[in-house]
Order: sequence, then C-alpha cells, then structure tokens
Amino acid sequence: MKKFEDMEKHGYEQLVFFHDESTGLKGITCIHNTALGPSLGGTRLWPYENEEKATLDVFRLARGMTYKAACAGLNLGGGKSVLIGDPEKVKGEAYFRAFGRYVQTLGGRYITAPDVNTDAKAMKYINMETDHVVAIPEKSGNPSPATAWGAFHGIRASLQEKYGDDDVSKYSYAVQGAGQTGDYLIGYLLDAGAQRIYFTEINDNHIQKIRKKYPDVEFVEPDDIYDLDVDVFAPCALGAVINDDTIPRLKVDIVGGTANNVLEEEDKHGAALQKRDILYAPDFVINAGGLINVSHELAKEGYNREKAFNEIQGIHDRLLEIYRLARENQATTQEAAKIFARKRIDEIDKIHANYINR
Ligand code: NAD
Repeated sequence: MKKFEDMEKHGYEQLVFFHDESTGLKGITCIHNTALGPSLGGTRLWPYENEEKATLDVFRLARGMTYKAACAGLNLGGGKSVLIGDPEKVKGEAYFRAFGRYVQTLGGRYITAPDVNTDAKAMKYINMETDHVVAIPEKSGNPSPATAWGAFHGIRASLQEKYGDDDVSKYSYAVQGAGQTGDYLIGYLLDAGAQRIYFTEINDNHIQKIRKKYPDVEFVEPDDIYDLDVDVFAPCALGAVINDDTIPRLKVDIVGGTANNVLEEEDKHGAALQKRDILYAPDFVINAGGLINVSHELAKEGYNREKAFNEIQGIHDRLLEIYRLARENQATTQEAAKIFARKRIDEIDKIHANYINR
C-alpha cells in the first residue's frame, strides 16, 4: 500500500502508528484535515486481519469525520483512531491508558471519542492520561439520544422538502434497527404524533423491549422492511443497506436515519435513488447529533445538554440548505453535502491566512 500516494490524493495531514509493548496496544491515528479546528473522531477497536485493512479503515473514517464536522457547522476537523486487537481479550485499564498517552502526544490536534468496541468506561481510562477525549460519563455521556434527536429533525426537514409539510403525525415510517438510536427515534416520532410506525430487528431482546415500550409500533421481519408501503425508511442499524437489491424494492419517498455509510456505493446508489425520485438525507449530515453533542464538552462554560440539543435541531435547516444545493447543482444530495462541506472548509481556511493577534 502506497500510503503517501493516498495521503496526497485525499489531502490527509498526518498518519501516526503506535505500539505499547507492556499492554500489546497497536494502533493508528489518522488526522485528515484541521482547517476548521482540532480533529475529532472515535476510536474503533477491531481485530483487523492486517495493517493494510486497518489503515484503509482509518483513512476512510477520518475523512468522513471532516465532512461530518464541516456540515454540522462545527469548528472541528476530521480524525479517527483504530486499535488492532481482539475486543474480548485486550480491553482493560492499562490498555486504554496507554492509548490515552499517545493521544496526549498529539497535543490536541486529535480529540478521541467512543466508537465500535470502545465505550464510556474506556473513555474514562483514556481521560486519566489525556485532556483530549470526549463523551466521558460525567459529561455528555451516551450520544445515542442526541443522534436520534438530530435524525428526527432531519426527517422533518426531508418531509418539508418532499411534501411541503413537515407535520410528522401525517406520515408513516419504517425503522430498521431498534438498538440505541432506533429506540429513541421511534420515541421522538411517537411524541410528535406519528400513528403508523413499523420496525425490524434481529435481536430478540430488542424486539421484546420495543413491543413492551411502544405496543402500537408493529414488528416486521428483517427482509420485509424494504417492501413496506410507507413514506420514510429510517436505517438505524447497518451500513450499505441501500444497494442494487434494495433500491428497486423501495416504495418510500424518503430515506433518512442514524446509520453510517447507508449507500453501498455512494455515487452509484445516490444517483439510483435520485432517479427513482427518492429523497436521500446524507448520512453524515442527518446523524451528526452525537458529534454536535460531544462537541459541547469542549465549550469553555462546560457541557450543557439543553444548549447541545438546541444546536442539534440545526440539522433541519442544514439539510434544507443541502437539498437546495442539490437542486441548483443538479447533484445528488450526497454530492451536495460534500460540496457544502468543502466550501465551508475552503472559506474558513482562507480567512485564517489573515493574521490577527488573539
Ligand atoms: P445499536 O447496536 O445500539 O443498534 C443497532 C441495532 O440494529 C441492533 O439492535 C441490532 O440488533 C440491529 N440490527 C443489526 N442488523 C440488523 C438487520 N439486518 N435488521 C434489523 N436490525 C438489525 O447501534 P446504534 O448506536 O443504534 O447505531 C446504529 C447505527 O447508527 C450504526 O450504523 C451507527 O454507526 C450509527 N450511528 C450511531 C451513533 C450513536 O450515537 N449511537 C452516532 C452516529 C451514527
């Protein structure tokens, strides 16, 4: 793998490999772009087959964070860490503290957060060694309600764009995945008066939990979720669920939920949705609520949930702006979101060329 070639092609700033002998810690941090501010992104612990796969993943994830932060209007850049290891074996205080020491060596150019297989407890250990970590339990805590809150307002914006009326109670919904974010999203939709909601799940405990909590929400088998004749499909489980197999089956007008990397192939499947006149809420815009929430931990006055949740509602207006850009540029909504992000990064980068004493 030619790492410098990839770095030049996509504009990565920094790639750092680290190893701690005593704990077996092995990982990579990638800082993609810091034009807007310090890079922020979670740490993923995964048993990668080899270094190359881990590097590809950290590259892809760090770049995604740049777009996500830029679209969310945050003064943050994009970064990410991957730790190569078996999550059943390597978790522990010393392991995460060793990682925290490496985060500290980056001097605040990279701020870490939870991701797959790293939780609030891991962040607590990391925080013992570095000042550059968010989503620790005493502060903003679990980001899932915030992510779902953002998706709810993103769905409202999408209803407005598609039907000219964002009264959530008038429409029907299919929610794929009722884990942390799906559960909260269903709750927000019900609170707003939605009458017809379907959900699917593969975990029996979660199916029972939703049936008990929301008896009017109807369960459908996992594969049947794509065929439902409803207005909105909300993916809240896996990535790549919008693909060659599922697009022809969809009867919805809107796709928007909390899941990451929803389009199996961004360009191809973004265009295929557009061709079918299905409005796609770009995943890294509609699911940025969790990121906006943790960013409030960095505020001088400290974390304030009410302020954070108010700012998350801005996802509504941001999406309307991106839908307008897509129309003006005859682009897919995913492309339009990237145009929006790049424009903001370039503009803010340029004003920094003008020195001020601050
Ligand atoms: P979660 O693990 O709590 O929930 C996902 C649920 O989907 C689980 O209950 C799982 O059983 C179910 N599921 C898996 N495969 C399924 C299938 N084929 N059909 C139906 N259900 C299936 O995860 P989460 O925190 O709710 O996150 C969901 C998605 O949102 C992920 O893609 C995640 O990366 C993304 N996301 C989450 C956050 C957050 O704050 N938690 C933030 C941004 C993005």
